Amino acid sequence: MKLLRQMEIFKDTNLPEDGWLQGCFICYGPTGRLVEAGQSENKNENYITEYLVYLCHTCKEFINRSHPIREEYEESIIAYIENL
Ligand SMILES: [Zn+2]
Repeated sequence: MKLLRQMEIFKDTNLPEDGWLQGCFICYGPTGRLVEAGQSENKNENYITEYLVYLCHTCKEFINRSHPIREEYEESIIAYIENL
């Protein structure tokens, strides 16, 4: 049984890093909403990483309504994770 490790993704702002509000991944606005962005598992590690993205209500609605924006969002999440 592997452990689940949660990784939070957000944009750097002046908000305190340990606070529950962080910068929305798209608009940098402060938000406490977290959206699941999938999991990754590495054979050599004994844990599964679950990615959670800070996304404000407005941007989440925007993504849900527009397919091209959703694709762009997903690509930028992947790029972000690869650059960690
Ligand atoms: Zn936003």
